[in-house]
Amino acid sequence: MFLSVFDMFKVGIGPSSSHTMGPMVAASRFLASLRASPFHPKGLKASLHGSLAFTGVGHATDRATILGLAGFEPATYDAGKAETALAAIKASHRIAPPGLPELAFDPARDLIFDYDHPLPGHANALILKATDAQGDVILEETYYSIGGGFVVTEAELAAAGGTKSKARADVPYPFDTAAEMLAMAAQSHLTIAQMKRANELKFRSQAEIDAGIARLWDVMNACISKGMEGTGILPGGLKVRRRAKGIHDALIAERGLNQTPPHVINDWMSLYAMAVNEENAAGGQVVTAPTNGAAGVLPAVLRYYLDHVPGASTSKIADFMLTAAAIGGLCKHNASISGAECGCQAEVGSAAAMAAAGFAAVLGGTPEQVENAAEIALEHHLGMTCDPVRGLVQVPCIERNGLGAIKAVSAASLALRGDGQHLVSLDVCIETMRQTGRDMHEKYKETSLGGLAVNVPNC
Ligand code: SF4
Repeated sequence: MFLSVFDMFKVGIGPSSSHTMGPMVAASRFLASLRASPFHPKGLKASLHGSLAFTGVGHATDRATILGLAGFEPATYDAGKAETALAAIKASHRIAPPGLPELAFDPARDLIFDYDHPLPGHANALILKATDAQGDVILEETYYSIGGGFVVTEAELAAAGGTKSKARADVPYPFDTAAEMLAMAAQSHLTIAQMKRANELKFRSQAEIDAGIARLWDVMNACISKGMEGTGILPGGLKVRRRAKGIHDALIAERGLNQTPPHVINDWMSLYAMAVNEENAAGGQVVTAPTNGAAGVLPAVLRYYLDHVPGASTSKIADFMLTAAAIGGLCKHNASISGAECGCQAEVGSAAAMAAAGFAAVLGGTPEQVENAAEIALEHHLGMTCDPVRGLVQVPCIERNGLGAIKAVSAASLALRGDGQHLVSLDVCIETMRQTGRDMHEKYKETSLGGLAVNVPNC
């Protein structure tokens, strides 16, 4: 198994990697297929299924799909141009994808929230169609948004299912499990970050890797800074107030006061994570880590390391990110990073495991201690459901990222107090997450049909 650090961490837009970025990516892929086809399309149609239908409005899935069909992509998203394009499409019932003729598309008629027909491949499904002058379908593709902005077609999903456990990546350290990762580290005398870098070098130069990681951290850090300045009410109708700025102002005012209790450091971690997730909820630019909903945990821990830990160095950022990506790859490969698939344990739980591993690594942990840090963080997120109120990535998501960051730091600290030996392995934890997710009732998997979503008054 090889999953690049640049697949795990992708620059995109809020509020959701699976429900916003994924559909936009799917639409972009569909346009590419349409351009390559011999057909002469006259119109487009889209239908959203499963969780994409149930929580699609709250996650802006409809907007993302339409904008994707108009040629917008997450990495280059321009909010101003998007608003202009959306207004034009709604007014004219026409859409103008780059490289294709202008096509008929009435959002009210041609974009369907299909609540009754979930598709068998995955909870997040959408079908895109191109039609001819008579309205007959000339090209159709089913896409599954499988979390973290990853999108597969029906055929790709079937192929991946058949080879997942057998395929060995052609990289120097093709670990599929944490046990293999530790064995390879012991044999090679390399750290997890060094092995991951060696794998990445199969596809990119050293300079490209370092520049790419630096760019990712720049976007993450800018997102924290922007989030700490944001004020007002988040969109979506739940009337959730942005709190990061107020917390930041209060923490700055308290700085240096002798009576500040030690636990206030937790507020800094929460602050950084909440700033990112408030930006995400507002539709701002974030980096999947591993998803948008869980995008605050890892940047919060990294910023905490850089700003608050004595001896911290920016030269360790790459090691942090590479280690975290290795752990995220194991979670994704052997279980899931998707709330719609395995609940929030797969999103914030995986994010906390990744951040804990990265933090332990830059503090000098051995590979065993790093694996232990990830294991502790994930173990204590097991069973956590996904139940966003009104389908918005706000409650419980924003605070949950703050608590995930605190757990990640605590897990790393605890692991570094030990010798790396522990009873529950990371592999056992990841497999437990997979089984728990499989057995979890569908209403706790990003449908907003259970949990807080139905118990919190939201009108
Ligand atoms: S509850 Fe967790 S998994 Fe669900 S949308 Fe929020 S952050 Fe994502």
